[in-house]
Amino acid sequence: MSPVESSLIAESIRYVEVAVAVPLRRVFTYAIPEALAGRLRPGMRVLVPFARRKLPGFVVAGLAETSLDAQIKAVLDVLEEAPVFDSELFSFLREAARYYMHPLGEALRMAAPAMPSDALKSLRKAGKLDAQDNVRGAKLGVRKMTFVKWAAEAEEGLRLGKSQQMVVALVRERGEVALDELKHHVRSPRPVVKALVEKGLLTSEEREVAADPFFETTIEPISGPTPNKEQALAINAMVGRLGQGGGFLLHGVTGSGKTEVYLRLIAEARERGLGAIVLVPEIALTPQLVHRFRERFGDAIAVIHSELGDRARDDAFRGLHSGRLQLAIGARSALFAPMHRLGVIVVDEEHDGSFKQEEGFRYHARDMALLRAHRAGAVCVLGSATPSLESVQLAETGKLTRLTLSSRATAQTLPAVELVDLRRHRKGPSGHRLISAPLHHALEECLDQKGQAILFLNRRGFAPALRCEACSEIQTCPACSVALTYHRGPGLLRCHYCDFMRKAGQPCLACGGEPLVELGAGTEQIETLLSETFPSARVARLDRDTASGRGVESVMDRLRRHEIDILVGTQMVTKGHDLPGVTLVGVIVAEQSLAFPDFRAPERTFQLLSQVAGRAGRGEHPGRVLLQTYQADHVVLRWAQHHDFEAFCRAEMVERATHGFPPFGRLISVRVDAADEAQARTTAAQLAGLARRHPAAASGQVDVLGPAPAPIAKLRARYRYRFLLRASDRAALRAVGKVVVDRVDEGLGTARAIVDIDPVTYNLDPGQIENVITSKTRAIIPVH
Ligand code: ADP
Ligand code: ZN
Repeated sequence: MSPVESSLIAESIRYVEVAVAVPLRRVFTYAIPEALAGRLRPGMRVLVPFARRKLPGFVVAGLAETSLDAQIKAVLDVLEEAPVFDSELFSFLREAARYYMHPLGEALRMAAPAMPSDALKSLRKAGKLDAQDNVRGAKLGVRKMTFVKWAAEAEEGLRLGKSQQMVVALVRERGEVALDELKHHVRSPRPVVKALVEKGLLTSEEREVAADPFFETTIEPISGPTPNKEQALAINAMVGRLGQGGGFLLHGVTGSGKTEVYLRLIAEARERGLGAIVLVPEIALTPQLVHRFRERFGDAIAVIHSELGDRARDDAFRGLHSGRLQLAIGARSALFAPMHRLGVIVVDEEHDGSFKQEEGFRYHARDMALLRAHRAGAVCVLGSATPSLESVQLAETGKLTRLTLSSRATAQTLPAVELVDLRRHRKGPSGHRLISAPLHHALEECLDQKGQAILFLNRRGFAPALRCEACSEIQTCPACSVALTYHRGPGLLRCHYCDFMRKAGQPCLACGGEPLVELGAGTEQIETLLSETFPSARVARLDRDTASGRGVESVMDRLRRHEIDILVGTQMVTKGHDLPGVTLVGVIVAEQSLAFPDFRAPERTFQLLSQVAGRAGRGEHPGRVLLQTYQADHVVLRWAQHHDFEAFCRAEMVERATHGFPPFGRLISVRVDAADEAQARTTAAQLAGLARRHPAAASGQVDVLGPAPAPIAKLRARYRYRFLLRASDRAALRAVGKVVVDRVDEGLGTARAIVDIDPVTYNLDPGQIENVITSKTRAIIPVH
């Protein structure tokens, strides 16, 4: 558990295995040149010749001999004297890469801090840079950022390229966007913005902002409330395992004081010189949590988030590595924080889909947190109001200790939840059936009493689809089998997957006919409706079209300051915020996520509704929650209505066991894509055939389901097929997975395959799964 640098590779050892950051599932052997003999350690970053390039790689282990002697190349140089990973983190990463059958070099590169710039490196080498001053500078300092603003009245008559259109649409909708943020939307925003400024459409200005938004304000330290009985029980159980290790499932309703338990546990760990990692679903959405940690522990915290520059990230990592910083908070990638003496890992909202990385190294941060903690002898706490069935099952089988916080920590009770049957209730005065009479009256009452309301609908845009009156075709993206969303503000039809867009008001893509009829409603439409229906109320919208990054927090701040009466939003409004003024929560269509073709859809829906409902009544006034639905008899909605996790969990466990799905069976999914439909189909069939011929599959120990077209059958002009391996025996499942991976490594021509161990298809950015309608099913579905 204490930090152990990996031991030096002995001077007599002549070869070394290096994990190079290339997408190949193997390590490479190099000779150790004279000058580096006795200087290498596992986890060190070195430079090696690879093909005709020089690439960084990580030393894995020494080799006494090799059969390749003749053509072997030598390591070129050591890039950093100190190993990037200590032995605990390095061996954990090796294990994780092995578990996910992922190229080690890529996994290591992802987990490693950016290389320090040459200047920094030589300063450090010469001992001229005080690491502490450096980190403080990065945290409390300011940096210059460029912001782009909308300037023109109209862009009529101007011919704009695709990137230009994209930037114009974004800036127009939001009024102002940081140049850095545009990087997420177009490849090189600088020249695009420059051109648009010259055309008079945009203006740009530089402003100073705090280098790290999480440390913008100063904070008075506080000691926190005295734990209640259940909290004390939980804290004692966890503290008793500090220094030895143990896994806990902390099940407590929203507001039951889970965070308080984490804080106390971490305080105890710090007393013993042990560090802690806290993983949260989306760090940008939880500044309040960071605030509470700063109140308790001061500013010696590494907040790891995507807006952190390379330099600040590097400094944070070095602070953790050296033991100067004992606490890291961040989204899933903070799992790889190089903590000096790891004592605690907390996974808050452990059920959340964002803990699964859905590209590149497809790890699940919750599962890996358990693994890392177990190996390091650390305490791991999974906290949630609606634990995942996987975690419940681990508790049932004694692998986790379950601790319960059964009521809210303050005087508030859980909000009353009402189901509004949209089949029975009339349209409200707004004239729109999605603002039913009961919801309308609840909003009226809420506004009368000077309360605030949050309305949740997981679809952005004005209308999620448009249908041609003439030929009945839904307007779909040319590159994806996904309906185009109508965005009325910028006057565009957009694909939420590939950023294709087209001006609204044009005829049907299929037949050239007209008119196009709007189907369904998105947040933009609900916002518009409410502004018209309640003209004196201040209505705002929060989704990925209106805000991202810090923008989210500024909307939440406005809500907290009561500058907003009604907030309409996507999943962004459901997470973690403590908003005392919110007394009414409305869910526009409660069963929306039930329609996803995935066995986790009921679980996902239950979690989502519980989470949204938890936003109401956190202040001194009791909360009220309305769930509008066309399926008022659906049991999942009933259980959510009664906050009945146990009933939901019992029933759902039976379903899963019956079908051999997790947490009872294990899964590996294989998705093949290719530009040519037939090639995607036959490649998937070949790989699935290979899996079927494996003895473990032939004997029926492992099921091979599929292949079949993926729910989104075409994405970015590539056709997608998938199949699933399912088994209760992990070794058998992996053996079959391995033959598929080996075949993939031999190359599939222009087809590609993604092998996903323990897939969680929902675990996509909610911004991506919202609002997807295929032309065929007309149901809302996730990407896979
Ligand atoms: P959770 O993380 O489960 O949502 P929090 O830890 O945020 O719950 O607690 C909810 C609120 O209750 C917070 O304002 C917190 O300060 C307060 N709280 C927590 N524990 C106690 C306690 N033992 N006594 C009084 N207030 C508490
Ligand atoms: Zn598209």
